[in-house]
Amino acid sequence: MAKVVIVAERCKSCGYCVKFCPNQVLAIGKQVNSKGYEVVESVKPEECTGCTICGQMCPDGAIDVYR
Ligand code: SF4
Ligand code: SF4
Repeated sequence: MAKVVIVAERCKSCGYCVKFCPNQVLAIGKQVNSKGYEVVESVKPEECTGCTICGQMCPDGAIDVYR
């Protein structure tokens, strides 16, 4: 089973990962990091296939994918 972990302090809330996840696993969440950005969270973790697209799209290296 695959799992995504967001490094909250690196997220800039750009939304690329949300847009490009083929399974709509990710969404901008309510947690705000120390830089004032709303951090992405996994809202449908059971739908994650571990494709790593989100991690490749993130310009800030804020997503780790475990398979
Ligand atoms: S690994 Fe793929 S399926 Fe899982 S959250 Fe990232 S883009 Fe979506
Ligand atoms: S692509 Fe990276 S920086 Fe942008 S919202 Fe997703 S986790 Fe945050």
